[in-house]
Amino acid sequence: MTRYHGVIPDRDLPDDLPLPLATGEPWWYWSGGRPAVDFVNTHRERWRRGVETLVTPEDLATWLVQAGVMDHPAAVSRKVLVQAVELREAIDALLVASIAGAPASGEAITLIDDWLVFAGERPQLVRDEAGLAQLTARAAADSPRRALGMIALDAATMLGTDDQRGRIRICASETCSGRFFDRSPAGRRRWCSMRTCGNEAKARRHRQRQKAGA
Ligand SMILES: [Zn+2]
Repeated sequence: MTRYHGVIPDRDLPDDLPLPLATGEPWWYWSGGRPAVDFVNTHRERWRRGVETLVTPEDLATWLVQAGVMDHPAAVSRKVLVQAVELREAIDALLVASIAGAPASGEAITLIDDWLVFAGERPQLVRDEAGLAQLTARAAADSPRRALGMIALDAATMLGTDDQRGRIRICASETCSGRFFDRSPAGRRRWCSMRTCGNEAKARRHRQRQKAGA
């Protein structure tokens, strides 16, 4: 199950939101265009106060299911949550460097690379209905680490290949730090969402034109 068809809540979190959050689930959004970018976007409002929405181990377990990299929630330890947040920030460091045309951090590359060992296919031997041993592939999402390995692989594919690297964007709005992967044919998308930031920019241009005309 993937959510990549534009389910986007209002862009801003309420100003009076009690922080830190007890759980981040109501504030997740899915406009990144791929799991690695949606993962980065779980750290919201990077442009100002930085709101953590992967608050509890249960948050991470639920997020991995909603992102489509796990079939059902599995127990996540506090340690895996800490490591997941480290992975997320390493992905963001490379994403930001890539957009800025700056050299990539070797430390961030190593951190993402360390997760890739969890992403590969793993064989599994099971007993079938006839009582025969059968060699199959282990389900893609049999553990949170494996799911995070899939996120790391998605990030590595995006950040580590020349054709995809050029399509990573940060929303052009000054009051939004939404990251997204530009899948538009021309590759000129500027806003995390036309419904929120894009519309706002259009309205602002309209007001400016009216003012200039008056
Ligand atoms: Zn935006």
